[in-house]
Amino acid sequence: MSDILSAAQAAPTPVETVIIGAGPVGLFQIFELGLLGINAHIIDSLAQAGGQCTELYPDKPIYDIPALPICGAQELIDRLLEQAKPFHATFHLGQEVTEVQPLEDGKFHVATAAGTRLIAGALVIAGGVGSFQPRRLALPGVEEFEGRQVHYRVKAATDFHGRDLLICGGGDSALDWTVDLCEKARSLTLLHRRAEFRAAPATVARMRELVDSGKMRIVEGIANGMRKHNDRLAGLDVHTADGRDVHIPAEHVLAFYGLHPKLGPIAEWGMELEKRALKVDTEKFQTSIPGIFAVGDINTYPGKKKLILSGFHEAALAAFAIQHHLFPEKRQFLQYTTTSPIMQKRLGVAETDTH
Ligand SMILES: Cc1cc2nc3c(=O)[nH]c(=O)nc-3n(C[C@H](O)[C@H](O)[C@H](O)COP(=O)(O)OP(=O)(O)OC[C@H]3O[C@@H](n4cnc5c(N)ncnc54)[C@H](O)[C@@H]3O)c2cc1C
Repeated sequence: MSDILSAAQAAPTPVETVIIGAGPVGLFQIFELGLLGINAHIIDSLAQAGGQCTELYPDKPIYDIPALPICGAQELIDRLLEQAKPFHATFHLGQEVTEVQPLEDGKFHVATAAGTRLIAGALVIAGGVGSFQPRRLALPGVEEFEGRQVHYRVKAATDFHGRDLLICGGGDSALDWTVDLCEKARSLTLLHRRAEFRAAPATVARMRELVDSGKMRIVEGIANGMRKHNDRLAGLDVHTADGRDVHIPAEHVLAFYGLHPKLGPIAEWGMELEKRALKVDTEKFQTSIPGIFAVGDINTYPGKKKLILSGFHEAALAAFAIQHHLFPEKRQFLQYTTTSPIMQKRLGVAETDTH
């Protein structure tokens, strides 16, 4: 048992299953486990459920979800959340799973960077292309200031009220926070490498109004250095698009350069990998460690296609395998939601109380 399980800490919470990743496939895994009467805790490093659908293309239409000729990516996530509701999964969002450790009794100790600790009977990794990480400010020595004066997300907006702010980026997050913080900050500069912005047109228009009324300024250019004063960050040096070198003083730099996926800790948990994906069989979708299953974009097997549809199928079969793993003595038989009273009871749609 690792040091992390030292007696000084509170005991981890025992749970039936843990799903790592709340993308479309992780969300459907809640449903498939729920139909079989198995409860799940689900963890994602992002602050909201939805994986790639929500993070990368929320407004794009998807055309290959069975029986939904057209469905917005965010709409699909909303529907999956609605469908999973009867099963009361516990969501741990904004937490990266950093540790998975098999225990002697066949269970797994799961720990997140935020300090959540669970003991799971079975584990499903639905980690997609990995956990999304913010793209960092590419300046030597930036680590020294990250979390203190250089930020990649806003935890408490009030921390920035009355401060001199430099916001970097040209997408929705950069523009939303620019508009939100502009009149609350002491000063605000928006730094973007070009004149065009990728954010919602209404937000861009509002930002331009704030510039016109002298409440903030835009600098077109690229940060190429940091200036320090007594161990504090004093601002960034910037090479502007029109060829000048300028200094922008700031107490806080908020860099919104988007997110990129990182397989990260999943690669270190001892499961067999092939081309940065977890090898599974196609009967149970089990990894090389019994009791750890992998579904969706994170897994690989002969003929694998990284489609949401494939992930849904994998989640259904993995649920049966997990049921067998947790309750090997239980007889398994296929039931239809249309006719199974027990499933309808679990779904909360049964008309009469049936056992
Ligand atoms: C632009 C675009 C368009 C697409 N269009 C289609 C389409 O039309 N049809 C289709 O079928 N597919 C499409 N796809 C692919 C589809 O989005 C993926 O197949 C699907 O999102 C995979 O779902 P998933 O749940 O396996 O993984 P993901 O959606 O990647 O979700 C995985 C989640 O796991 C989390 N995670 C990973 N590691 C950890 C960790 N250690 N701790 C905590 N959380 C972690 C991540 O933060 C993420 O939220 C498209 C993809 C893109 C980028």
